[in-house]
Amino acid sequence: MRPTEDTYRHKGLRKKLVQGIQAKGISDERVLAAILEIPRHFFLDSAFDEKAYEDIAFPIGEGQTISQPYTVAYQSQLLEIKPFQKVLEIGTGSAYQAVVLAELGAHVYTIERQKKLFEANKSFPWLKKYSSIKYFYGDGYQGLPTYAPFDRVIITAAAPEVPAKLIEQLKPGGIMVIPVGAGDVQLMKRITKLDNGVLKEEVFDRFSFVPMLGGRNS
Ligand code: SAH
Repeated sequence: MRPTEDTYRHKGLRKKLVQGIQAKGISDERVLAAILEIPRHFFLDSAFDEKAYEDIAFPIGEGQTISQPYTVAYQSQLLEIKPFQKVLEIGTGSAYQAVVLAELGAHVYTIERQKKLFEANKSFPWLKKYSSIKYFYGDGYQGLPTYAPFDRVIITAAAPEVPAKLIEQLKPGGIMVIPVGAGDVQLMKRITKLDNGVLKEEVFDRFSFVPMLGGRNS
């Protein structure tokens, strides 16, 4: 069962979580405010209430995880979201990252390849309050050509290399944040498509994500 109550205790734990993330180097006030706002325990079974406010990734079923809060904050900070921007997310998972992006004012288009996870979000009533998030069941490697181009693209699974179709769907001036690497460890990269179409690549810290897989899984 998903919890539906956000108590003072939860809010207190969340405040500590935000202080911890800040101490690890996240400085974007809007990102920190979003994490303070969102009841992360709503995204986990009530049996794991306590775990929701530790700075750890956690299993959500189908061999997948809700990303570590620090990682969510890190990717969100690198994205430099401005209100009303169109953001494509690959790997909806628990939808926690999508909600952080929505809190930052983005219009989020998020794709999940695992049918059960996609459906779990469809039957998560609290998510309905975020009408700026649209959910898609499909293969993230294809992106969403119908809705392209996007101001921002975020990949929340380990990509062996930067998917060409997702670069195509990025607007000139747009930013992609993606963990790249085929092994257990990936490098966080930020790719900016300059107005003349040239790609600028910046490399940041090491992270460990579940793999970005091809095709859909029913
Ligand atoms: N953003 C999520 C993180 C989930 S982990 C959160 O906040 O909880 C990564 C997710 O990416 C998993 O759910 C996995 O099923 C999904 N995924 C992996 N490869 C994918 C692909 N090609 N297309 C769409 N989703 C993919």
